[in-house]
Amino acid sequence: MKYFEAIAIFTFFLLLTGLAQAQVGVSSLPQSSMVPGGIAVIPTGVEAVEGIFKDQRITLANYNNQQYAIIGIPLNSSIGSHQFSLKRANGTTETLQFKIEDKEYVEQHLTISNNRQVNPNAEDMVRINRESAEMNLAFSSWNDSLTPVFSMHAPVDGIRSSSFGLKRFFNGQARSPHSGMDIAADEEEPILAPAPGVILTTGNYFFNGNTIILDHGHGLISLYCHMNTIDVEPGTRVETGEQIGRVGQTGRVTGPHLHWSINLNNTRVDPALFLVD
Ligand SMILES: [Zn+2]
Repeated sequence: MKYFEAIAIFTFFLLLTGLAQAQVGVSSLPQSSMVPGGIAVIPTGVEAVEGIFKDQRITLANYNNQQYAIIGIPLNSSIGSHQFSLKRANGTTETLQFKIEDKEYVEQHLTISNNRQVNPNAEDMVRINRESAEMNLAFSSWNDSLTPVFSMHAPVDGIRSSSFGLKRFFNGQARSPHSGMDIAADEEEPILAPAPGVILTTGNYFFNGNTIILDHGHGLISLYCHMNTIDVEPGTRVETGEQIGRVGQTGRVTGPHLHWSINLNNTRVDPALFLVD
């Protein structure tokens, strides 16, 4: 083999590998809902190798021979026209637009008996800031080697006690809107992985209690909070339906439940958009 042939084959191989990592073939898509806290599922019309929305890398998935951009829309997004950029393999870029419609989220008022969980002291704040940086880092990670599965079953058998996006008041004071779905269930009820992935991190956090962050690949990452027990360790590969822990009431809670969040492009979106039953 001539030197140039070898270089050409090597370059071609690099290109193939690069393409494989930039987009991923999937067997399902999440439900599209172009509202704050929703997901924009948009055919790209091109073979893009990278997509960016608000400085974050977005998921590019091939489904039924068509490439889609799957974009998590932040809850605090403005209503109206937004744009994201796509980069092709040849380096050219293109900008696509989509429209975010209004969605009215209702208020939820909760009473917390431990006032420190509503008005944390200075020492608590140091811990809270450290933990939120830790979780933010986990949410912004990107794993090319996992194929995301967008159709999910609820991770625990129970009653949906609180939905995503509710405007929250604790002991009468306004706090961040609800960034996930709450499923009330008896303590020690098993929590099952709703889709395959790798355990990214586990920990005990001030607000979230015993917590697991599960990486499904290509920016799709899920979070499980207030658990009684954590049954997995970071780095463990889990399949759909595999037990990862048990329902508890650790952290800031009013009773035993699972708080379940889903993240796309480092943005918390409504988990209901992934549920198939
Ligand atoms: Zn919750």
